[in-house]
Amino acid sequence: MNITLAKHHGMCFGVRQALRSTHDAAKRGPVTLLGQLVHNPLVDAHLRTLGVQQGELDRLGSASTQGVIISAHGASDRDRSAWKQTGHQVTDTTCPLVRKAHDALATLVEGGYFPVVIGQSTHVEVRGLVGDFPQARVVLEEGDLDQLPHHRRYGVISQTTQPLLRVLRLVEALKQQHPQSEVRFVDTVCHPTKQRQSALEDLCRRCTVIIVVGGRNSNNTRQLTEAARQFGCTAHQIEHPSELNATWFSRGLEVGVTAGTSTLDETVRDVVEHLKMIAANLPQPGILSSMLGR
Ligand code: SF4
Repeated sequence: MNITLAKHHGMCFGVRQALRSTHDAAKRGPVTLLGQLVHNPLVDAHLRTLGVQQGELDRLGSASTQGVIISAHGASDRDRSAWKQTGHQVTDTTCPLVRKAHDALATLVEGGYFPVVIGQSTHVEVRGLVGDFPQARVVLEEGDLDQLPHHRRYGVISQTTQPLLRVLRLVEALKQQHPQSEVRFVDTVCHPTKQRQSALEDLCRRCTVIIVVGGRNSNNTRQLTEAARQFGCTAHQIEHPSELNATWFSRGLEVGVTAGTSTLDETVRDVVEHLKMIAANLPQPGILSSMLGR
């Protein structure tokens, strides 16, 4: 069995920066994280060992410490200011590429465009993006476009971790539904997401089974799993090496490994080591036949 790691996989610079800032803040004194720093339960567990407490971004009063941390997914200016106004010292770990998406949306609104965000309406990043623009609409599927009010000018951005192809398809559909309107699209899908998606496509050309490592509620990890299936591979998404199941594998199989942008390096390393162990213990074809009595 051959095991190949995707050329681009795992933790991105935005998550690394957020982790570093959180470590530094925790060293300075007691802090409360407003939500999940990134969508990975192993990272949550690690932060708990540093004494980082848990609060909620949209519930003022959910932090008993003076220091609070805004996650890498960002927040609306309204929420950020509200926490500052209640006397909290805010450490803001918003990824610079999420900030870029906020700036792009603000510029479009200032320019008179009706704001449209492509993404998951319940995701914390998207809630932050639209939080300062109550008129903004969030769309994820073509059917959602029917709910948009008619406007002369639409300004479109996307959640940073959406698959670019889906985003481009929706922008095209919006143009077709409103041929008389101007549709201005700013591509805010982040570079690490694009790299991981295209590296996965390469991996799927030579592998039959793909192991995707990352948090179950991590959007970009889920997108990698879905993409691997769309490319015709069998994909298994796991958070931890102990979830690997030997029955998924067989001798001679080409197995690819990738990981979401919030996955720790050591988790990916452990998964690869575990896979090597499984590969070394796969039954020899002869042994298998004799076990089956053939
Ligand atoms: S996935 Fe992209 S936007 Fe999110 S933290 Fe990483 S680099 Fe930033």
